[in-house]
Amino acid sequence: MRLSTDRARCCSSGMCVITAPEVFDQDDEDGRVLLLDPTPSPALHEAVRQAIEVCPCGVITEEIGPG
Ligand code: SF4
Repeated sequence: MRLSTDRARCCSSGMCVITAPEVFDQDDEDGRVLLLDPTPSPALHEAVRQAIEVCPCGVITEEIGPG
């Protein structure tokens, strides 16, 4: 799994941080998403996929391909 985020479109809801705090954080200044771990371990994949689903702005993307 390899992740990317489009911070410009993040609406700072914080849902990803609640769902997968090992992988996502929020910027102290503007509240936008910070991607802590772009290649999370398999144990975190389910939580990450939930975060992708609950993100209201659709800014978290799982890139297709190895990793
Ligand atoms: S859930 Fe989506 S919109 Fe909310 S902080 Fe995370 S990336 Fe941004």
